[in-house]
Amino acid sequence: MTEDTGKIEDTGEVEETSEPDVEVEEPVTEKEVKEKKEKKPRGNPLGFIFNLRMLRRFVQIGFFFAINAYIFVAWFHMPNVTKFFISFRDIMPSLPILAPLEAPFGAISGSFDTLQQTFSTGIFPFFTLGAMIIILIFVGRAPCGWICPIGTIQDFVTLPKRTKIRPSPSTEKELRKVKLYIFVVVVGLAVWMGIARATGTAETLEAALGMFANDAFAPLNPAYILFKVLALDVLWPTSFSTLWYFSTWGFALLQFAFVAIMFIISFWFPRWFCRWLCPAAYLYGIFAKESLIGIGRNPARCTPDTCNVCEVVCPMNIRIRRFPYQHMHSPDCIMCLDCKSHCPNDAIVLRFS
Ligand code: SF4
Ligand code: SF4
Ligand code: SF4
Repeated sequence: MTEDTGKIEDTGEVEETSEPDVEVEEPVTEKEVKEKKEKKPRGNPLGFIFNLRMLRRFVQIGFFFAINAYIFVAWFHMPNVTKFFISFRDIMPSLPILAPLEAPFGAISGSFDTLQQTFSTGIFPFFTLGAMIIILIFVGRAPCGWICPIGTIQDFVTLPKRTKIRPSPSTEKELRKVKLYIFVVVVGLAVWMGIARATGTAETLEAALGMFANDAFAPLNPAYILFKVLALDVLWPTSFSTLWYFSTWGFALLQFAFVAIMFIISFWFPRWFCRWLCPAAYLYGIFAKESLIGIGRNPARCTPDTCNVCEVVCPMNIRIRRFPYQHMHSPDCIMCLDCKSHCPNDAIVLRFS
């Protein structure tokens, strides 16, 4: 897999081939990138702190707390900090991330979570949909890369691990379809429920769907499980809703097990939930694909035949070299800019078009 040069073997072919699953040993690649960077004169002596990767980590941590402002009250006894965060609640639109509406003292909710719940009440969510489309058309899926708490946790779980498993392009392509199937089921149920409520025939359907009636994705939504079920019902109960969870403790345990396993798997498969399972990712990708801000490669600097560092570090396992130099229109790009930070030739550029 690796050679003396430290390059990772890759054919560089652009077709979807039967490339075998490969375990990519990142230390070699990262070492090589580091060496190259060290040879370059440092423009910024504080580059270790003030760089894109660190900036993204700070933003991710900040939003993680903003979305879970209850932590400051519950654990640190700092109600004023909580108040500061929730003061944004009324002025912030939903963002294209995963964040449950029910999160106690959460400053931001996710567009997908809001859309789903609004649809199921029989109302068309004009504002949420409009805000979501505008954000995605401008900055693509940057909120996935910089804000979404579920993406953040996966990134931090992946951080200490220096090897990751990259499925072959054909396997990856098949696995990515799973989120489309989940999306169809979840949105289909929400619309069905909405129509039933609007026509006054929801009673039987509500009884049949049970906990899936108002938000079909919620029982398997890691954001809902962590920031609503775990936070409000278990760690910091404020209402009798806790009783419901104690009475259905078996199911809650299954939910926590699912979330725990999900994050453990991220250790080897970066952002696997985002790539394969998240139905919101499918929706956001539709509009983000043609976003105004995107990633491109400088053809004068990029050496795709001898280098694939950007693909190795990409948490979304995007075969960047398969795209045209000009603009990488990928519905899966989360604008994390890891490819830009690691490219040894500074060939990755931000495109505005
Ligand atoms: S794809 Fe990942 S980062 Fe984006 S909304 Fe889903 S969980 Fe969050
Ligand atoms: S963009 Fe950079 S990392 Fe990617 S193939 Fe080109 S030179 Fe290598
Ligand atoms: S292509 Fe670059 S910016 Fe997009 S997800 Fe991959 S590493 Fe991040």
